[in-house]
Amino acid sequence: MKERKLRIAVIGAGMAGILAAIRLKEAGKHEVVVYEKAARIGGTWRENSYPGLNCDVPAHAYTYSFAPHAEWSSFLAPGPEIQQYFEGVVDRHGVRPLIRFNSEITRCEWTDGRWQLETADGQRDTVDVLIAATGVLHHINLPQIPGLDSFAGHAFHTARWDHSVQLDGQRVGIIGNGSTGVQIVSALAGRAARVSHIQRTPQWIMPMPNEPYTEAQKAAFRADPKLIDEIRYGEPYMGLVRRFTDAVADPTSPAMAEIEAYVLGNLEQSIADPALKEKLRPDYRAACKRLIYSPDYYQKVQRDDVEVVVGGIERIEPAGVRMRDGSLVELDVLALATGFKADRFIRPAVVSGRDGADLDAFWGGTPSAYLGISMPDFPNLFMLNGPTGPVGNFSLIDIAERQWGYVDQLLAQLEQGACREISVSRATMADYDQRRIAAAKTTVFGSGCRSWYLDATGVPTSWPWNYDAFAEATATARLDEYELR
Ligand code: NAP
Repeated sequence: MKERKLRIAVIGAGMAGILAAIRLKEAGKHEVVVYEKAARIGGTWRENSYPGLNCDVPAHAYTYSFAPHAEWSSFLAPGPEIQQYFEGVVDRHGVRPLIRFNSEITRCEWTDGRWQLETADGQRDTVDVLIAATGVLHHINLPQIPGLDSFAGHAFHTARWDHSVQLDGQRVGIIGNGSTGVQIVSALAGRAARVSHIQRTPQWIMPMPNEPYTEAQKAAFRADPKLIDEIRYGEPYMGLVRRFTDAVADPTSPAMAEIEAYVLGNLEQSIADPALKEKLRPDYRAACKRLIYSPDYYQKVQRDDVEVVVGGIERIEPAGVRMRDGSLVELDVLALATGFKADRFIRPAVVSGRDGADLDAFWGGTPSAYLGISMPDFPNLFMLNGPTGPVGNFSLIDIAERQWGYVDQLLAQLEQGACREISVSRATMADYDQRRIAAAKTTVFGSGCRSWYLDATGVPTSWPWNYDAFAEATATARLDEYELR
């Protein structure tokens, strides 16, 4: 049978978009173009450059399966090294020429059986298939705190770090204690004259040693890639991932009791001052918010030049942050580690599917896609790391690779002429959402805390079952769940 050559557009040259581009180029069957809004690849690793940025997933697991990297400098890789890794992979796999930089897709319209695309600068394209690899966390969340604009020092969101601003010897305030805020506090303690960590809600902290790899270890990785595989696929990492996702899916499980014992022990044993310990003690379940993995946060906050400020922000003034108890946290620099609007995905691009189906209306405040990949009425549109896929304390590269393996099976239907349009059926989507929402409510993410995992109705949007359930669901695409035209 003659294969149909497709024109395929990938949106985004971050981790998942690069993966798609490489796989499509290797297959060599189609015409591929990657639209990237920025001037460089890298997605989240390009956008974030704050001091202390690293990935709290072991470096050898946060690596493409087809591009192992013996050179990681430490067990957890620093952000700039990850960016460099992606740059190297893009060049080694020859996909840079496929990327159109500074080309933000603003409109995708399904017309006459193809996707019509438009970019912010007026480029147009028509493609058969659209791969949305637009990431989860890149629309910044700026807090609505009165007086923010009046601050006399330098203030910026952590994903817009202003590297021209001096930090050494300055009084630096950090609002927010998610993974980002905690990494920054650890990095600035001892550098800044004073670090004030302004905390709205305490966080559970999982201890995580982070040792540098020696030259001898790197040489061993180079000589024997099986050593890398052991870290990536073997215990303890995969055991940890499995126990973690078992715990998320079933908060009554022994796996959850194990996590709770760890983080509670960490707090009890690490913090000496009883008053500070109580400031740092959460009143919700461990892993309800994304767990913070940190080798040294508890040590750093016990330094004399670091303070944890609680009690709520009243407003921001030229001199610093005024707290509700009337005290003023005087600052030269204010970093807003206030996270991201995690429900945006491909938006603000306007996406209109079959018969004018509008993605904004389809999602509203509750985005969902079957397996994080496909939606009814949006044929030949496949997402990587889309809504309701797994997110948590494990490698999203692994998740994207599994999703790509699945998307590839759907593409085969188009290639082989079995159909010209493919999208999950409405019945499958409805059944999935019904089961997913019921299960999500009983996960630890839904156990009563505020986090970016929750949609506008308070339901966790992430995959509510365990790791193996996702691996199984994405292993083989079941065509009876799809509408083929
Ligand atoms: P985040 O987890 O959403 O945390 C945002 C923080 O800002 C929270 O502490 C929140 O307080 C606080 N906040 C928001 N608005 C506020 C306001 N108006 N006043 C006071 N405080 C406010 O954001 P993030 O730390 O940037 O992390 C987001 C995600 O990025 C992580 O969960 C993770 O998935 C990813 N990440 C990963 C790594 C890694 O190493 N792999 C590193 C960094 C980030 P409340 O808790 O009270 O809402």
